[in-house]
Amino acid sequence: MADKRDYYEVLGVSKDASSDDLKKAYRKLAKQYHPDMNPGDKAAEAKFKEVNEAYEVLNDPAKRQRYDQFGHAGVDPSYGGGGAGYGGGGFGGFDVGDIFESFFGGGFSGFGGSSRTRNPNGPIRGNDINVTLGLSFMDAAKGCKQQIQVQRLEKCDTCGGSGAKSGTTAETCTECGGTGQVKVSQRTPIGVIQTTRTCSKCSGKGKVIKEPCPDCRGMGRVRHTRTLEVSVPAGIDDGQTFVLRGQGDQGVNGGPSGDVNIMVTLRPDTLFERDGFDVWCDIPITFSQAVLGDEITVPTIDGKVKYTVPEGTQSGTVFRLRNKGIQYVNGRGRGDQYVKVNIEVPRNLTGKQKDALRKFEELSTEKNYEKRRSFFDKLKDAMK
Ligand SMILES: [Zn+2]
Ligand SMILES: [Zn+2]
Repeated sequence: MADKRDYYEVLGVSKDASSDDLKKAYRKLAKQYHPDMNPGDKAAEAKFKEVNEAYEVLNDPAKRQRYDQFGHAGVDPSYGGGGAGYGGGGFGGFDVGDIFESFFGGGFSGFGGSSRTRNPNGPIRGNDINVTLGLSFMDAAKGCKQQIQVQRLEKCDTCGGSGAKSGTTAETCTECGGTGQVKVSQRTPIGVIQTTRTCSKCSGKGKVIKEPCPDCRGMGRVRHTRTLEVSVPAGIDDGQTFVLRGQGDQGVNGGPSGDVNIMVTLRPDTLFERDGFDVWCDIPITFSQAVLGDEITVPTIDGKVKYTVPEGTQSGTVFRLRNKGIQYVNGRGRGDQYVKVNIEVPRNLTGKQKDALRKFEELSTEKNYEKRRSFFDKLKDAMK
């Protein structure tokens, strides 16, 4: 830092140079010293950096004014012990790459070809595979083992994943030197700039296979249909997903495998309906059962249970069977079962049955029908 050259001197312009003069001088020097034009030349690299720094300051009227007044200390807080007259901040750590990226939105190759693009020969995780699994109500409620088929990419056995025919090897791409990226010269307002593009010769892979493996056609991976045994967790619901870790496409260059994401769809059940972890079921009962009470059979996910319908049960009454619902997926406990009883009005009665009912009707009184009584009371009031 001690022997920092004068910025005007660096650009070879006079103190009263116009911004056009600055631009012209800068373009000429930037091109001359650009690292991509002078590979491996440390002196050129240093000059290039110096030129950019000088232009960055002189091209900014405010910075140029500070520079004219205070010299380097006015624009670089790290220079000359603190920067008289300049508060610091905003101009520390000069980085040409940053400036170029701000001009061109990225893609600047930087010094020595350091690219921000991912190394094509580095480990890449395999893709996830999504499958849908249709389940019965009971299988989802209680959990089950299922087999699913996935088509996944696996390392080619024939070539061991190299993609090259046996006896040959994949060669490092001569076009990009294995980086998968090539530099492209671009004429811009501030000179010729190198940007990077995906290498067309190797399609960004960094390697060229002259004789591809016939089994994977040079891809290094082949698609296999695999049958996987799946443990479906008890309690899983329609639309929910669970994951088989590491069962998806195999990774590349030692990268980890992807996952298999299994989304569950539930087929409707003839007996049960599901509401979260609760189970609903409708049970038809007879008129007499409702009137006299009876023990009925109720299906649950654990099998049949007996339930006593009390005397005088109304149609549509819902009974709750505690803890007879579905087990929580990731916790202790389970939901409840709700049983809704509906009175089925009998049809196709015989004469004898009808007689019995008529006899019953004759014996009935207002006391037997609470709702009816209250209805007629209201009716009387309303129709006065
Ligand atoms: Zn290449
Ligand atoms: Zn192969």
